[in-house]
Amino acid sequence: PIVLGIETSCDETGVGIVRGHTLLADTIASSMDEHARFGGVVPEVASRAHLDAMAPTVDSALAKAGLKFSDIDAIAVTAGPGLAGALLVGVAAAKAYSVGLGVPLYGVNHLAAHVAVDQLEHGPLPEPCMALLVSGGHSSLLLVPDVTREVISLGSTVDDAAGEAFDKVARVLGLPFPGGPHIDRAAREGRGDAIPFPRGKVDDGTLDFSFSGLKTAVARYVEKQGDSVSVSDVAASFQEAVVDVLTRKALQACRAHGVEDLLIGGGVAANSRLRALAQERCDAAGVRLRVPRPGLCTDNGAMVAALGSNLVAAGAAPSLLDIPADSSMPITTVSV
Ligand code: ATP
Ligand code: MG
Ligand code: FE
Repeated sequence: PIVLGIETSCDETGVGIVRGHTLLADTIASSMDEHARFGGVVPEVASRAHLDAMAPTVDSALAKAGLKFSDIDAIAVTAGPGLAGALLVGVAAAKAYSVGLGVPLYGVNHLAAHVAVDQLEHGPLPEPCMALLVSGGHSSLLLVPDVTREVISLGSTVDDAAGEAFDKVARVLGLPFPGGPHIDRAAREGRGDAIPFPRGKVDDGTLDFSFSGLKTAVARYVEKQGDSVSVSDVAASFQEAVVDVLTRKALQACRAHGVEDLLIGGGVAANSRLRALAQERCDAAGVRLRVPRPGLCTDNGAMVAALGSNLVAAGAAPSLLDIPADSSMPITTVSV
């Protein structure tokens, strides 16, 4: 079956089309340029941009895949979590396409979709697998027995998400929003061991994270150094502190639950140092690592289509046409 997925939880209008585990199209329109000057995503601006971009993005995804509307067998959409108004545009559009085409609708969880997307690149997910989900709004360790049915949260951040920390530290360093990719780039010119920034909660025996102390330590350091600060050394040392904790806890989780496959997903999974250190530590621990290519880590429509495709294959019941957009959908809800 061919599934069209729609993603509008934040600033990206993403439309993906998959057949089984094969990616046929992945089209994205972003309103980031309109938000950058505000230093963050402005919800109302995002909703309006989704409205403008929705139909053209669906059309261009179909064109890219060389398909017609009549070829689509099911529609999947991010039903939450995310910005309420932004989600609403995608959910309303998905319902309209579902009714108009006479095909089933699957409302899915954005975070589970960040996990499911990897199958488009590396084939069916190992079951169970451990997932480290690190994005702009979330940082969690998830035990995934079956991504269509059950995702268990083992730990999550007690304050800032990893991506949020990247974005806030970038702002302190005078780098543009969103800061993750800029810190990644600046860090390549710096030394990760230049400044011993704190590793929050690293050996506290839980699988939770904390990044706000680190963020504050970076801000204090930058303030103290003034004009003589080395942006690249701060970026590299901050990044090292984040990825050190993320990879250590991910491997602790694998060990504790006897899981041999680790998957990393979400926007921060695009980080080059996280990818390298995770590979190094997984190799040492005998754990297989899967990380999708960077373009599939940040928000996209393909991830939604991927999870929808799994639901179709698993024979899951389609969503009712009155499903709401749920801005605070818990990770334990895979589909609605
Ligand atoms: P959520 O998935 O929790 O709802 P979101 O959808 O806004 O949040 P994503 O698009 O998955 O988040 O990820 C965006 C985040 O990823 C931003 O915080 C951004 O700075 C970060 N990010 C993107 N690329 C990189 C990178 N190379 N290094 C570090 N962080 C990155
Ligand atoms: Mg985004
Ligand atoms: Fe996301």
